[in-house]
Amino acid sequence: MPLFEYRCKECGHVTTFLEKPGSRKRHPCEKCGSAKTERQLSAFAAHGGGASSGAGASFPTGTCPLG
Ligand SMILES: [Zn+2]
Repeated sequence: MPLFEYRCKECGHVTTFLEKPGSRKRHPCEKCGSAKTERQLSAFAAHGGGASSGAGASFPTGTCPLG
């Protein structure tokens, strides 16, 4: 079961949900109740090889560089 992260556009709170693939459910923010949540790629789904040297490959938080 994949994990999906939803980030609230109102308060920035990130909530992680277990969800079936293909589900189009919307999840309101559990902190402020806003329905303006945006699905993120879960960090748990991106298991790399095992290089733990600080190569700066961490997940960018916040704004999209293309946006
Ligand atoms: Zn919120």
